[in-house]
Amino acid sequence: MRLLDKVAVVTGGASGMGEAICRLFANEGAKVVIADYNYEDALKVADEINAETLDAAAAIKTDVSNETDVDAMIDTAIALFGKVDILVNNAGIMDGFEPVGEVSNDRWDRVFAVNVNGPMYASRKAIAHFLDQGGGNIINIASIGGLQGGRAGAAYVTSKHAVIGLTKNTAFMYAKKGIRCNAIAPGAVATNIANSMGTISTFGQQTTGVGMAINPAFGTPDQIASVALFLASDDSSFVNGAVVTADGGWTSY
Ligand code: NAD
Repeated sequence: MRLLDKVAVVTGGASGMGEAICRLFANEGAKVVIADYNYEDALKVADEINAETLDAAAAIKTDVSNETDVDAMIDTAIALFGKVDILVNNAGIMDGFEPVGEVSNDRWDRVFAVNVNGPMYASRKAIAHFLDQGGGNIINIASIGGLQGGRAGAAYVTSKHAVIGLTKNTAFMYAKKGIRCNAIAPGAVATNIANSMGTISTFGQQTTGVGMAINPAFGTPDQIASVALFLASDDSSFVNGAVVTADGGWTSY
């Protein structure tokens, strides 16, 4: 019960890594708020968690690219559970594999709206609350695409580099206020993210799939959730501003 009496808000908690994080955090004693624009699936996950542990989870329909939604997400979490201790900025899309010479403004803006503006809105809102209560913990789900140039298209790679920048700046700026902020950089993980990808050109596959022959296998959402649990718990109390790579060794060469 490493998260006993903690309250966690997890964006994109209806599927994939976010769902695994919600289930693990609830098993470890946390109350979890599952914030996702797929409300139907978020509710399903919340119901399943509540069937195991009474009143441990709630679902909130949230589009993280919409600041009003994100503010309401944090306010509703506080109204439901009295506080927020942990924010997991996990919702993300991997739309498009184009290099910068081919990317459209629409694609770029949408990827940035979800992958970068979302975590920024949520962090800003949560930090106001964290400062009032004397501490808090933010975990940003970045990607190995935030560390290397060849893992996806220009919009995604640049957005995930930005998430890592946001992580480090937040850690630095609020370290003395009892707020920690770390990132996880997953490699290939078997989730539904392909649903957000659209058509992948042969060029995109060839360029960004280079490491796949080296990467031994896809990871599971649970393998990322256990890293998130470490970062969310006091086990990692001296870890701040870190980027924890969890990719089965893909980026080790
Ligand atoms: P997923 O598609 O299974 O889950 C993403 C969830 O986010 C979904 O439930 C979706 O409904 C939700 N979502 C998408 N846009 C949203 C929005 N605007 N507002 C609210 N919710 C929204 O994918 P996943 O692989 O679990 O992705 C989780 C995170 O992991 C993402 O940030 C992704 O970029 C990152 N990531 C994934 C991989 C991978 O291989 N799967 C690798 C590295 C990083």
